[in-house]
Amino acid sequence: MAGLLTVDEALRAVLARIQPLPTERVPLAEASGRVLSEPARALCDLPPFPSSAMDGFAVRAADTPGRLPVVDRVAAGRPASRALAPGEAMGIATGGVVPEGADAVVPIERVVASGEQVEVPDPAAVGANVRPRGGDVLSGAVVVDAGARLGAAQIGALAAAGFGEVECARRPRVAVLTTGTELRRPGEPLAPGEIYESNGAMLRALLAEVGAIVEPLETVEDDEAAHRSAIERGLEHDVLVTSGGVSVGPHDLVRRVEAELGVEEVFWGVSVRPGKPLAFGVRDRTLVFGLPGNPVSSLVSSVLFVLPALRALQGERDPEPRYEHAALARAVRPDPRRDELVRARLTADGIEPLSGQESHMIVRAAEANALIYVPSGSEELPAGAAVRYLRL
Ligand code: AMP
Ligand code: MG
Repeated sequence: MAGLLTVDEALRAVLARIQPLPTERVPLAEASGRVLSEPARALCDLPPFPSSAMDGFAVRAADTPGRLPVVDRVAAGRPASRALAPGEAMGIATGGVVPEGADAVVPIERVVASGEQVEVPDPAAVGANVRPRGGDVLSGAVVVDAGARLGAAQIGALAAAGFGEVECARRPRVAVLTTGTELRRPGEPLAPGEIYESNGAMLRALLAEVGAIVEPLETVEDDEAAHRSAIERGLEHDVLVTSGGVSVGPHDLVRRVEAELGVEEVFWGVSVRPGKPLAFGVRDRTLVFGLPGNPVSSLVSSVLFVLPALRALQGERDPEPRYEHAALARAVRPDPRRDELVRARLTADGIEPLSGQESHMIVRAAEANALIYVPSGSEELPAGAAVRYLRL
């Protein structure tokens, strides 16, 4: 088949068609998994004041060792009423404001406290156990940059730096349409010739992982009118993902109906196994992916192309698939013509290709936690060879 794009060319073609979605303000507590659309700069110094790292006594280092009167007790959130004078100590809690005049905190374990006196037996260093104002970040410095996807650590940092809300790309609205007369909803009895429809639930789970709001459309039979009305609905979304019906059979209607509805096909066919008959097009600002129906093909094509597109729509930095490297736990024979994504498991001995690599074998694929990228070629890759892979 002429005109197949390489995986890399196909990914470029997809990313070239993407314009990031508009942004919106999101309460920080709901921003987990969202992509920040502008740099977040600290709204205050952090810590905002010199803060004690220990429960103990605030002192002047120059007064240690020595026996000092305890003139105040500083709890967290309750600064002392006055500065510390030479020769004095103040009790202080972790997170308490180190009083003016003090330059060290001696931990409670290192003193002998008796009544309103404290005995400091060892010399304290200047700055000991004092967290300086702005030691974590200074007001105005970037806390989290634009294009970052917010995980727990970023959310914590943003909250600490004073953000109640952040500006994020709108979540992409994605319609998922599965096609095929043979498909039955899981949970119902199968009639002769039928199989369970599995791509819908799988794609919904996969796309939601990168922040998509997925609207599953009702599965359609291989019938033009049914395709037309469902695809029309799907095209109202930011992204339409169909499964099945993009090959060359008489019942493969998706591309034809999409063309009638004004979808401009950007490419059809990628030199990859599984997933060759992938179709990609656009109508206005809607991205349209036609995934092959075989479940493993649908999964692999989505990982290679749909997820990067969804990341790019949200303005994520580095939207492309993130390859890592490992050594093969056993030999692999490449496909002579097409690059291949081989379902595999990462183990202590390296990355191990699984048996059962055919594109309908979704249950075998469920054991995989990685996809090895095996470039086309004629030479066997021996055990121990370095390969790149994607985590699933
Ligand atoms: P197609 O791409 O429509 O030619 O379908 C290729 C193979 O995948 C056929 O065996 C279909 O029955 C199967 N298939 C298509 N769509 C689904 C789906 N949503 N769930 C499970 N299998 C599917
Ligand atoms: Mg079909």
